[in-house]
Amino acid sequence: MPVFQYLAATELDDVLVALADGETAVLAGGQSLILDLKTKDGLPQRVVDINRVRGLDTLAEVDGHLRVGPLVRHQTFESDVVGGPLGRLLRIVVCHIGHPPIRARGTMLGSFAYAHPAAEWPVVAVTLGAQMVLTSPRGTRTVPAEQFFTGPHTTVRRPDELLTEAWLPVLPARTGVGYAEDRRTTIYPQAAVMAAVTVTDGLISSAAVGLVNAGPCPTRAREAERLLIGNTFCDAAITAAAEAAAELDARFMAETNGSRPARMRAVRVLARRALSQARESV
Ligand SMILES: Cc1cc2nc3c(=O)[nH]c(=O)nc-3n(C[C@H](O)[C@H](O)[C@H](O)COP(=O)(O)OP(=O)(O)OC[C@H]3O[C@@H](n4cnc5c(N)ncnc54)[C@H](O)[C@@H]3O)c2cc1C
Repeated sequence: MPVFQYLAATELDDVLVALADGETAVLAGGQSLILDLKTKDGLPQRVVDINRVRGLDTLAEVDGHLRVGPLVRHQTFESDVVGGPLGRLLRIVVCHIGHPPIRARGTMLGSFAYAHPAAEWPVVAVTLGAQMVLTSPRGTRTVPAEQFFTGPHTTVRRPDELLTEAWLPVLPARTGVGYAEDRRTTIYPQAAVMAAVTVTDGLISSAAVGLVNAGPCPTRAREAERLLIGNTFCDAAITAAAEAAAELDARFMAETNGSRPARMRAVRVLARRALSQARESV
């Protein structure tokens, strides 16, 4: 372990003061940061631990959004933190993250800040149209999740900003949710697809489909969504949308995680599974 300076903050202001030098890392769950400190070069030599700061574990439904603070651990979402389809989706997705000790310490907002291209929570945020709240001594700004992630391990967060909240929209009744992933190791999936589909009067009125590891950051499958809206939630619509997700929406990076045809096949199969699961829960 390299030597680094460790600050244990007890107030939000202390965290912001520590971050102001632009060279200090936030320690939340530590499940990614500590590993990186051990194995990577060029990381900050100063760490501010936010675990003792009161009030950072917000988890509340306000104005149609679930507001999540920086100290809400992954495992919290294993219980019913919010009713309806959003709670169901979070419960389905969280079980895929690492294993129980990782989920006991790791945080949702840490996962957003870390922006691993194959992580589960970022695709949920992007697909649902969540908002990210960033705070620095200069003030607070809110960024849509789709603009927050810019590439593997890169976001629009500035080095002096703390991600203080994420707002996840509560999903309407008659929304079916699904999530399917292809995982070969204990760390991160090869590919995954998330779906949230609302049916009104027998027809799909809104569809959100997101792809993991099919681009530099989580990707909305807009063509797949376009094909679903206005249709009945039938096998043909699911097959057409899955095809579009693989053929038109996926933007694979260089030949990592398998050949392009194999990865397209994975997206097609996972999209069919996620959408079929969503149909069952409408
Ligand atoms: C063995 C193993 C398996 C894993 N498997 C998976 C998996 O399958 N899926 C998955 O998604 N993840 C997986 N992870 C990662 C895990 O989910 C982490 O918990 C998560 O990526 C980061 O959350 P954390 O709270 O631990 O953040 P930390 O490790 O404390 O921080 C990670 C990074 O984010 C920054 N940061 C943290 N919080 C904030 C904040 N509020 N504002 C600004 N910056 C912040 C830190 O400075 C650091 O750069 C795995 C990790 C391990 C070790």
